[in-house]
Amino acid sequence: MRDGGVWDVMIIGGGATGLGAAVDAASRGLRTLLLERDDFAKGTSSRSTKLVHGGIRYLKQGRVKMVMKALEERDLLRMNAPHLVALREFIVPCRNMAEMAFYGSGLKVYNILASGRGIPPSRILRRNDVISAQEGINDASMMGGVSYVDGQFDDARLALVLAQTCVREGGTVVNHCGVTHLSATSPSGMNVRARDTESGEEFSINARCVVNATGVFADAVRTMDGSNNKSLIRASQGIHLVLPSAFLPGDAAIMVPRTDDGRVLFCIPWKGHVLLGTTDTPVERIESEPKALEDEISFLIGHAGRYLRRAPTRADVLSVFVGLRPLIGSSDGPTKSLSREHVIHESASGLITIAGGKWTTYRHMAEKVVDRVCKRLGASDKKCVTRNLPLYGHMTDQGTLRFGEYGTDHHAIVNTIDDEPNGSDRLHPDLPYVAGQVTWAVENEMARTVEDVLARRTRALFFNAQASKDMAPRVAQLMADHLNQTADWIDREVASFNTLASQYQLHA
Ligand SMILES: Cc1cc2nc3c(=O)[nH]c(=O)nc-3n(C[C@H](O)[C@H](O)[C@H](O)COP(=O)(O)OP(=O)(O)OC[C@H]3O[C@@H](n4cnc5c(N)ncnc54)[C@H](O)[C@@H]3O)c2cc1C
Repeated sequence: MRDGGVWDVMIIGGGATGLGAAVDAASRGLRTLLLERDDFAKGTSSRSTKLVHGGIRYLKQGRVKMVMKALEERDLLRMNAPHLVALREFIVPCRNMAEMAFYGSGLKVYNILASGRGIPPSRILRRNDVISAQEGINDASMMGGVSYVDGQFDDARLALVLAQTCVREGGTVVNHCGVTHLSATSPSGMNVRARDTESGEEFSINARCVVNATGVFADAVRTMDGSNNKSLIRASQGIHLVLPSAFLPGDAAIMVPRTDDGRVLFCIPWKGHVLLGTTDTPVERIESEPKALEDEISFLIGHAGRYLRRAPTRADVLSVFVGLRPLIGSSDGPTKSLSREHVIHESASGLITIAGGKWTTYRHMAEKVVDRVCKRLGASDKKCVTRNLPLYGHMTDQGTLRFGEYGTDHHAIVNTIDDEPNGSDRLHPDLPYVAGQVTWAVENEMARTVEDVLARRTRALFFNAQASKDMAPRVAQLMADHLNQTADWIDREVASFNTLASQYQLHA
């Protein structure tokens, strides 16, 4: 960035959308730069339900084309990042024959749309089959269920893998460096001002084309060129509660297609914990750390109590995390009916904004926006190659390897752990992470803060907020050793992480 020169394309925002676009652009041979003002996936992209799916509820809304596209993308992601996507069985509990017939036929359609993709078909289950698949399910008024299979992934890790893939393809990605100002330059192109949030250093960057992929912040970035645009985005908040695995000891997840207010509820085993979600609450205030509302918390706890054999209470919640959906729309109605499709918009200054969509469809969105960039650059001969582009770490046979999610890096991380004194020390008795993973994250994964390590390189904050607070001093010390930081830095990092982690805890 300091060397100057003109980038073909500069992408603002390091979530699913921006990182996907950066991979696409770099792999077409464009000189590509991505800037993220915080950390990769700090925004919505680390706070999803972690499903690579078509979205059964969109089928109910008649959005068949969108579901088919997402199912196609699910399969491409399974092929290109098999180390990150696993299959998970979901059970829809049914109280009577009418529900079995209704959900059974709906899921048959989902099957047909996904046919030929190596995913087991949906099945009608008798009551006993449901209980043997998931003993944590409340069978009090249950007659049986319908089961189907979908994809599950670790969202923050996939984001990091996209950043690593972009670099492998010749692109440049920078975290902790935010864009502050944009202006059109002649004859075409843009000047971008950016600020390194660690050092305060300011950068002036020239690019032939700039893409705004900042999710719920897209409207704010669209005003940076001085224009007064009509807003594109409506934010909708979704929260998740994390419980100990004892609430759902089996492998199968529960999917409730219709709660009291028409929302879908998921109870999903996730890496030794249970994820409960989610909500769909329109919000006006756009924050990078949105807060769960009391209504949302009681909605999830109350509903989970109906479907789980052991009803959870607030005291059981290990962590609560909140994300904002960047939905497209300007109406005042409920956000649950707004489209999950993406839009691409061009401002008079030349800024191209892409927003909306889902994690599952990030690759397709990237293809569309980079097609637009190439057209602008007169480079339409540079075709998208990401349908068959293995992502960084691609590995098909990681099986039960301890560090299998690191893909082909798993040997190297074991070496780091072995080479470091106390590298295999557990950082907390309730979580699987060891000291060597912190070193690895600093040296190989661009982790710069304690939060980067505890929230996204590991998922400690999302699994168990108190345990992550307990780990913070040790993690800060380990990071300081590698980053040549001072005792003051350690104190500041621990204090700031503790303040953040308190927001992930439910207080009585
Ligand atoms: C509760 C919930 C559950 C969901 N579950 C699923 C699911 O299971 N499956 C699925 O497919 N999808 C799911 N989604 C949707 C999916 O998570 C989002 O569509 C996707 O993460 C949006 O990514 P994004 O890159 O557009 O936005 P973000 O991830 O928010 O990224 C935008 C980035 O831009 C950065 N930024 C902002 N301003 C600047 C600036 N000035 N300079 C530089 N950077 C800047 C931010 O820091 C942020 O990191 C869910 C969403 C929510 C809210």
